[in-house]
Amino acid sequence: MSQEANPFESLQEQIDDAAAYLDVRGDVIERLKNPERVLETNLSVEMDDGDIGVFRAYRSQFNGDRGPYKGGIRYHPGVTRDEVKALSGWMVYKCAVVDIPYGGGKGGIVIDPSDYSETELERVSRAFAKELRPLIGEDRDIPAPDVNTGQREMNWIKDTYETLENTTAPGVITGKALSNGGSEGRVEATGRSTMLTAREAFDYLDRDIEGATVAVQGYGNAGSVAAKLIEDLGATVVAVSDSSGAVYNPDGIDARDVKQFKNETGSVSGYRDTEALTNDELLTLDVDLLVPAALENAIDGELAREVQADMIVEAANGPLTPEADEVLTGRDVHVLPDILANAGGVTVSYFEWVQNRQRFYWTEERVNDELERIIVDAFDNLVEAYETHDLPNFRTAAYVVAIRRVVDAYDSSGNWP
Ligand code: GLU
Repeated sequence: MSQEANPFESLQEQIDDAAAYLDVRGDVIERLKNPERVLETNLSVEMDDGDIGVFRAYRSQFNGDRGPYKGGIRYHPGVTRDEVKALSGWMVYKCAVVDIPYGGGKGGIVIDPSDYSETELERVSRAFAKELRPLIGEDRDIPAPDVNTGQREMNWIKDTYETLENTTAPGVITGKALSNGGSEGRVEATGRSTMLTAREAFDYLDRDIEGATVAVQGYGNAGSVAAKLIEDLGATVVAVSDSSGAVYNPDGIDARDVKQFKNETGSVSGYRDTEALTNDELLTLDVDLLVPAALENAIDGELAREVQADMIVEAANGPLTPEADEVLTGRDVHVLPDILANAGGVTVSYFEWVQNRQRFYWTEERVNDELERIIVDAFDNLVEAYETHDLPNFRTAAYVVAIRRVVDAYDSSGNWP
């Protein structure tokens, strides 16, 4: 295995690759490659046994030219400052590619949540919310769930903010429970955009998704929802994985049933009628569609040479290194980038925020219809850029569209020193 790519350098490379096709000044591009500010803090939290635990945490506000900073908070032992910076940058271009009025941000706490009790996690979340309070707000910076966080954490952060501010401000954070100002359709939104992107891409490339074989790396919220919705289009899921390993059945794995099995047993490993595979074996299976839905750097340049899938639709953020992209472009493997394929999460976060601001709530049908319209329009814009500029791949096309939108916003408002 080659040395792990630094996600922040990967982001900068992706921006440079697209900038080569744009008529934008170098100094403006340089500005778009670095965050506006990064909070680094150490949270001191009392543990259940009375000891003090110290947890490093970050919030990066990358760019606010198109609106308030927007992006999730992840709880993971592997969180680093550079990772959070990269993830916040990807949010900028994600919001721009689907044309929702946000900039980009991201946060993370260096913690393995499975090592802590619920009461400890609540105190950690509230301690982070207290640190974030001066930075966030309904019109300032709006966090959301990410890896290992969900409705529970969002509810705690909202409650802490509202208590300290002595107000109600449900739009300060998205991904909340329905009972707490959340939106219908938010939990499934990321996987839904992955399905919609795959559907549009198969159609564009004149391939039939009905009967296509699919492998899904990562079976958390994004991966499991993408798998079941792609299965609903008539495709066959032949392999899925999580951090415990991968399972494979060439005749198909029931996407919903294996999720149920994971909920009951804690992992997909040992699911009935399957053969165990390693993570790399799953990523190099001969399938029509590969969906990486775990963490960054799942496929590096070396592994990309072994990939046999015809198409990759990225449900995770940053699962391919720039070297992998180069190899796959050379081998005519189509990659539908994260900033489109997982943009459903932030898009329905936007709907949640709109509903919170209006105190008027939508049906699930309305949420799903509006999401479909946004993803299909974004796909069409990406294809138009891809064809008009004769771009090497869909990632570059997505960045060309997104960077242009951010630059337009910057140019039309000018620079306040
Ligand atoms: N964490 C998700 C992402 O990476 C969702 C962000 C949001 O809803 O603001 O896109």
